[in-house]
Amino acid sequence: MTEGNLRPGSRVRTPVLSAEPSCVEVLAVIDWYVDCECDATTMLVIAAHLDACCGCCDELSMLRWLKSAVRRCGGASESRSWP
Ligand SMILES: [Zn+2]
Repeated sequence: MTEGNLRPGSRVRTPVLSAEPSCVEVLAVIDWYVDCECDATTMLVIAAHLDACCGCCDELSMLRWLKSAVRRCGGASESRSWP
């Protein structure tokens, strides 16, 4: 559950992105984008870039996959002893 993620002043980061950011700019904040930690404007700017840019889109899906894998490992069998 990540309700309240968009509350101003809490976890939301506000990187300064131009209206048409370069790949470097997008990749610099894509980690926050995946976690929805950017402000709404930044989210939209990045989404628009990803729509048009295959390279960053690949990066995004890889990052999402990585994060879900980490989440799966992190919460799973850390405390369980192996048979
Ligand atoms: Zn790009």
